[in-house]
Amino acid sequence: MPKVTIDGKTVNVPEGITVLDAAKRLHISIPTLCHHPKLTPFGGCRLCLIEIKGIPRPVTSCTTPVSEGMEVTTTSPNLESLRKTVLELILSDHPNDCMVCERAGDCTLQELAYFYGIRENRFEGERRIYTKRDGNPFIERDMEKCILCGRCVKVCDEVEGVGAIDFAYRGFKSKICPPYEKDLDCEFCGQCIAVCPTGALTGKSWKQKGRQKEVREVDTTCGYCGCGCNLTLHVHGNEVIRVDSKADTINEGWLCVKGRFGYNFISSHDRLKKPLIRITLKTRDASRVTRNEVFREASWDEALDYIAERLKSIRDKHGPDSFAGLSSARATNEENYLFQKFVRAVIGTNNIDHCARY
Ligand code: SF4
Ligand code: SF4
Ligand code: SF4
Repeated sequence: MPKVTIDGKTVNVPEGITVLDAAKRLHISIPTLCHHPKLTPFGGCRLCLIEIKGIPRPVTSCTTPVSEGMEVTTTSPNLESLRKTVLELILSDHPNDCMVCERAGDCTLQELAYFYGIRENRFEGERRIYTKRDGNPFIERDMEKCILCGRCVKVCDEVEGVGAIDFAYRGFKSKICPPYEKDLDCEFCGQCIAVCPTGALTGKSWKQKGRQKEVREVDTTCGYCGCGCNLTLHVHGNEVIRVDSKADTINEGWLCVKGRFGYNFISSHDRLKKPLIRITLKTRDASRVTRNEVFREASWDEALDYIAERLKSIRDKHGPDSFAGLSSARATNEENYLFQKFVRAVIGTNNIDHCARY
């Protein structure tokens, strides 16, 4: 375990960890933009620069492993001036439209600009103007706000294993895009949105639904499948306006398209709120009788009595093995247990299976 000294505090840390991670153990915060704890280091944004005794120039703490006896300085007038210059350079080609950005109040770039007090910018020159918007159904990709930190590319490759996006072109023309700059056509898990430190990637369904400070966060469990990922619902008034997941959950903050984007049904006017019983309506004209099947609303008591009566009459007439029960991965273990108990003990058949069994 090498012994390192960071800002005058000495600590023993595991072999091979980076200076950034060693500093975290001492509760010393170093600003970053491209770094994400669950992705491989990139060293691209240059904000995490540090000084190491014996090394003439600052180095990036996210890519520098600790070594025995290392003496590190994480903040000095020179380092803070370099960080401020890096931020100024980033912001010199950034729309700065926080007034209308969906990420305002939840944006690392905005927080750092505030911290370093960047109001005016010394740098000027050509700016990226991308008028074309991606036509995919879920992810708003505003590449004028992209700072080329590469987090989205890494998460898509290293976590999702899809590789739907990458860096294209070189120099000032560098851009994150799908192959041939076509519309994004991928898993739509939204992991890239979750790691983006700016407003470059947001949800299309988030638009003008509410500011982060007006949102109430409600932790819950996704009901779409048996993985049971932890969700955090962002509730504005009485409406869920976005969904994400915290990093310290069983699913480590990662979600699939259903968990992240499949929430519009909650407030849908088409949502069924009462049981429906199917009935057949007969209409008669001069030559024939026409049968139409329609649904009528029923109370829960009426619907449950109706189901029980129909199940009983079918079982009495055709025997219990005329039934089969198919259970669901969307239900909890307890609900699945109860369902098999009902099929075996009440209906009286072992014809019970589960959609996830194969
Ligand atoms: S939504 Fe998922 S699969 Fe698509 S680009 Fe983003 S991380 Fe990759
Ligand atoms: S889209 Fe976001 S995560 Fe991807 S490179 Fe740009 S700023 Fe980084
Ligand atoms: S987020 Fe996706 S994988 Fe996770 S429980 Fe929901 S449906 Fe299943």
